[in-house]
Amino acid sequence: MTVPTFVPHVIAGAQQAASNAKTLNNINPWTMSHQGEVARGSVRDIESAVAAARSAFDDGPWPRMSERDRAAVLHRLADLMHRDAALLARADALDMGRPLVSATAVDVPRAADMFRFFADHLTMSTSDRYPMGSAYHAYTDYRPAGVVAAITPWNHPLMLGTWKIAAALAWGNTVVMKPAEDSPTSAFLLAGLALEAGVPPGVFNVVQGLGAEAGSALTASEQVDRITFTGSTATGRLVAHAAAATLTPVCLELGGKGASIVLADADLELAAATTAQAVFNNSGQVCLAGTRVLVHTSVREEFVHRLVAEAHRLRVGDPFDPATDLGPLASQRQSERVRGYFDLITDEGGTVVTGGPLDGWSFAPTVAVGVPPRARVAQEEVFGPVATVTEFDDEDDAVRLANDTRYGLTCVVFTQSLRAAATLPARLRCGTVWVNCYQVRDLRAPIGGRGDSGIGREGGDFSREFFTEPQAVFLATS
Ligand code: NAD
Repeated sequence: MTVPTFVPHVIAGAQQAASNAKTLNNINPWTMSHQGEVARGSVRDIESAVAAARSAFDDGPWPRMSERDRAAVLHRLADLMHRDAALLARADALDMGRPLVSATAVDVPRAADMFRFFADHLTMSTSDRYPMGSAYHAYTDYRPAGVVAAITPWNHPLMLGTWKIAAALAWGNTVVMKPAEDSPTSAFLLAGLALEAGVPPGVFNVVQGLGAEAGSALTASEQVDRITFTGSTATGRLVAHAAAATLTPVCLELGGKGASIVLADADLELAAATTAQAVFNNSGQVCLAGTRVLVHTSVREEFVHRLVAEAHRLRVGDPFDPATDLGPLASQRQSERVRGYFDLITDEGGTVVTGGPLDGWSFAPTVAVGVPPRARVAQEEVFGPVATVTEFDDEDDAVRLANDTRYGLTCVVFTQSLRAAATLPARLRCGTVWVNCYQVRDLRAPIGGRGDSGIGREGGDFSREFFTEPQAVFLATS
């Protein structure tokens, strides 16, 4: 099988063009040329996908299957993802420039793991019983919520989609997914694999198209029971408005502007290598990135020297070249955005030590110093490979700078002090703190943010809370 040049919807188990036959162009970000067409979903397409999901939920077998049977289907789906790993990886590489090596080694296995994890989580999950003497038997059961609307971004198309899809399906829901318009293909392929694995038609539907058309029609639907959204803060606000109108529970995984804090006693080799990963991975197109690099004055010079050396080691190039560490930025829009912020560095009083725009939509890992902490480039999400380095004098200062943001997704701390490692997380206003590591994950742990980084958490029991309706049952025993 090859990556298709026309990416259709998958509704009720069938591949479909847009009902009005409209399409969008699919642009390859490395060659910057047209590589195919994508169905441009209309309100009508959303209505038919939601109707398919509604009927699969209300009358179909999926929510009524035993947990073991549903889990077995999801494990089969994970197997099929491994079988077709090369194709899935190729789809994300072509759509958004993810290096094929990383997509193959990291994204596809992690995405398949989501299905395995949530299948096992389902079958091993327990619920509370409330002792009430002998007259009553009382317990909580977790009922599937219904039809889930899942809207996803383009930066890790397959992997971020599966956070939502795997948990929603495991807990017996049906899904309508709207992938980002810049990365439609892996979701389409996943829907095909789900059918092959035995997910009944109508349980997992994919509608392609623009956010303002297909996305907003999906979030406005009164037939949807949950909205799970990953994307920008600005769009998250629109989604929250739509959810408020229908009182639909919503989970928003939004932008980030994480701090990487290097204390005076940090292992600088580890700190520089890990910070490079935290800022430059996926060409900086990562919500969890730790791009506000805060360094103790006493180690600033040596740290910057090491971070720059790490930046120089990374190869930017063709996503299909095995030697490539970082692909191009994902679209022309992204390229213009990151270049705009790059120009701001000097406009706002900073100095570029290394990095900057390359040919096409590629961008070299960039390290800037002297940017005032309240400057736009230090406060707004660049979503590109740009680190701004700021000095601090003591821990209180570091905490103040780290928390001086509207976002609250992640922080990374580098220290060899057990006291600092143990006490700093409680002082940092964010959803995840990594100490002397980055992007270590455990699917039981919550992921999500505060402030402009969103509302709600995904992962393990947190996903169960969101994708189910906990129901209390009181049973008179006589
Ligand atoms: P975006 O908000 O432009 O688009 C995200 C999705 O929303 C796309 O599918 C888009 O079509 C859809 N959309 C756009 N307008 C819509 C509307 N009015 N109604 C409904 N849906 C609409 O974001 P993006 O540029 O695709 O993604 C990058 C952003 O995502 C960054 O801000 C990044 O930090 C964030 N992100 C967050 C996480 C997280 O877990 N917190 C993970 C990855 C990315």
